[in-house]
Amino acid sequence: MANTSVTILRGSDTIGGTCIKIRHGEDSIILDYGAPLMDNTGAELAAEVISSPSLENGILLDVQQQDVKPPLAYLISHAHPDHYGLIDKLPDNTVIYLSDSSYSMLQIGNLFYPEALRFNSLALCQLFQPGKPFQIGPFKITAYLMDHSAFGACSLLVEVAGKTVFYTGDFRGHGRKKNTSEYIYNRVKQPDVMLIEGTTLDERHSQQFPTEKSVEDAMVTAFSEPNRPAFVVASGSNIDRIVSLYNATKRTGKKLVIDLYQLYLLEALKKHAPGLPPHKGDHLRVIFPKSQLNVIKQAYGNDFLKYSGRHVNVDKLKSSDYVFRVSPYAMTPYMDALLEQGAQPKLIYSMWLGYKEKQPKFTELSNKYGQEWLYAHTSGHAYSDHLKAFAEKIGAKRLVPVHTLNSDKFVTLFENVQQVENGGEIIL
Ligand SMILES: [Zn+2]
Repeated sequence: MANTSVTILRGSDTIGGTCIKIRHGEDSIILDYGAPLMDNTGAELAAEVISSPSLENGILLDVQQQDVKPPLAYLISHAHPDHYGLIDKLPDNTVIYLSDSSYSMLQIGNLFYPEALRFNSLALCQLFQPGKPFQIGPFKITAYLMDHSAFGACSLLVEVAGKTVFYTGDFRGHGRKKNTSEYIYNRVKQPDVMLIEGTTLDERHSQQFPTEKSVEDAMVTAFSEPNRPAFVVASGSNIDRIVSLYNATKRTGKKLVIDLYQLYLLEALKKHAPGLPPHKGDHLRVIFPKSQLNVIKQAYGNDFLKYSGRHVNVDKLKSSDYVFRVSPYAMTPYMDALLEQGAQPKLIYSMWLGYKEKQPKFTELSNKYGQEWLYAHTSGHAYSDHLKAFAEKIGAKRLVPVHTLNSDKFVTLFENVQQVENGGEIIL
């Protein structure tokens, strides 16, 4: 009988750049092929190494190893570059699978992102829907929607020859889709191997705001201060956070201002989640940055005109009742116009603090407007309590840490842990 095995090609000792191979006989599939972010000490990789990936500099991986056949397919768990970033480097005949909503995320991203961040393999992709099993050679795959800061993120259950491997991908239990965990507990039971992420175990992830709801509540408090229009830095692809901003502005009677990228992304995701904003007659307003307008005109002609009623620009600001979630590079004219009207803009930072130090624009704005950034953010990754609860409920025979700098901590915190090195094969 053919052997079944799991190999972590990268990710057993680092965050980002995950790549996992599941092999059965001569057939194999790959779960994620992400661009690495850091080495196994957590130190950032040099930009020139990342921008010229090769086998020699260790960014690209020898995925096929000694196998007779190349992998049957590559599956992407979610639309974060540290999980899909190297897919574009594969040959044109590669078969790629990703969720329908991840596809929508990447499709809109391609319109607006700079060349280096685009995903140029959409034409090679086959789409799966969470909960609907599909077959690749001998492998039966079922994807499950996860609670994560990338919309459409999925875990992947792989069944082959009576063996089961469950890969969590990135996830948490404190966001807007926290019920997805319960759903999985009823469907994934005692897999032979569970590959579980452990991002937050490095303790660089503050728990000051334990849930997405607590971030929304902090925003409500921040937006309630009179005559203080707010300028929020947040990831446009973190749809949970955009919903928190939408809710918090609604609760405080403010108008939420986004840009065309954000608006078209939300519109594209509505077919997967109809409850997402915008809604007719709501408090959402839109700026039309020239570069984004050109992109929209090229892709969709005059489609943007249907949003004229939502359009704001510097001349249209009638009060201080605004909250802006736009690029930090687009904020200054609006801040200046509101200052001139006698309002005092408020700066809010709503992303991982690690990015803040790297981006001089944040310090520049802070100095220019004489104030510190108010912090309100919760991680896209599960904290250890939820990781433990999740692992306990699933009850895997072997728990293998991945996407973590601290697989050692799993040994003390969890049961049935098997630490593996990158490239080490786990025979099932
Ligand atoms: Zn992620």
